[in-house]
Amino acid sequence: MKKITLLLAAAMLALAPAAAKGLKGKVIYVNPGHGGWTINDRPHATMNYQEMDTMSFFESKTCLWKGLELRDRLQAAGAKVIMSRTRNGWVAEGDKNATVNDRFETYADENGQQQLIDLFKIASQVDSINPDYFIALHSNATGGGDGKKVNYLLYMYRGETGNDYAKGSIDRATVAYPYMWNNPLTVWTSSSMEDRYIAGDLSWMGGTPPGKPNALGYTGWLAVLKHRVPSFLVEGSFHSYQPERQRLMNRDYCRMEGIRHFRGINAWFKGKPEKHGYIAGTLKSADERVDDPCFNYVDGSDDQWKPLNGAVVYLLNERNVRIRHYKVDNEWNGFFGFFYLKPGKYSLIYDAPGYESIIEKVEVKKNETTYCKPRLHRTKIDIK
Ligand SMILES: [Zn+2]
Repeated sequence: MKKITLLLAAAMLALAPAAAKGLKGKVIYVNPGHGGWTINDRPHATMNYQEMDTMSFFESKTCLWKGLELRDRLQAAGAKVIMSRTRNGWVAEGDKNATVNDRFETYADENGQQQLIDLFKIASQVDSINPDYFIALHSNATGGGDGKKVNYLLYMYRGETGNDYAKGSIDRATVAYPYMWNNPLTVWTSSSMEDRYIAGDLSWMGGTPPGKPNALGYTGWLAVLKHRVPSFLVEGSFHSYQPERQRLMNRDYCRMEGIRHFRGINAWFKGKPEKHGYIAGTLKSADERVDDPCFNYVDGSDDQWKPLNGAVVYLLNERNVRIRHYKVDNEWNGFFGFFYLKPGKYSLIYDAPGYESIIEKVEVKKNETTYCKPRLHRTKIDIK
């Protein structure tokens, strides 16, 4: 048993490049998937909004939220970050589906920041810059109708499973996977630490033998990966799983995903651990369930319990002084999060009208997220 553990540890160490000394000066290219408010930007109805309402779910919007947080964390660690886009509402030139909310991509917006949407243009830029790391951020959807109870983590690289055409892609995804999978706030229906979905795009999408090369000469299935840089596209979760979609409606939940991506990249470059820690959780009812056609949850899972919209979570320091609070949104996810906390002991007070408040003691450790999943009972009404 010990021998196997040691071998595994040695194998993990061998993955990261020996010369890596942290993120300082490294060039990281971050590509938030999609770009605008079109029908191709993966719009979905949610419990509060209709499909195509810009307030509703668009994968283009949530991928950007993840990417901006990832950028900020990478820059704080000294990396140079290039993003294909920093805004939502841009579409590739000539997109016939463009809406009134979209602008066609140009080489820069009014702040001088480029907004690239076209996948070949992005791949060409990546190939010419040749960054140290490339990551494409997405969420996934099942075919054949909405609301399927399917939610797993998937990494895809250019090539066949077990044979990355840009060498180093499999190793990068393998190092990143455990950080991304560690999300107790979601409900995974398959994939695990033991059974990791890290696949070649040609094999996963069913395209072997390799199709036609792009104009740069690279073969593969996913257009954005057809360049020379070791890289992957990560489907962070399934937005077609409705309770997860409701979570993705919360920007801070997406930011937490950005932080998990950061940890995977930081580990690859053997960077210093972050000095601060985080708290993330979901606040739900102890005994009420959600009954809504837009909330098809996995039976018996944490997702069965009704999220407490509008509740307030107070953060107290060790001397029991309230230092921050988080107002839970109205998007049926119950999410709350506290960022950049000094390691130490804290307390959380969960407060929702009509429910009995509870207090929970938590410890925040550097470079880690402390997860909490409190559930509140309804206040007992005295009937006389
Ligand atoms: Zn996508």
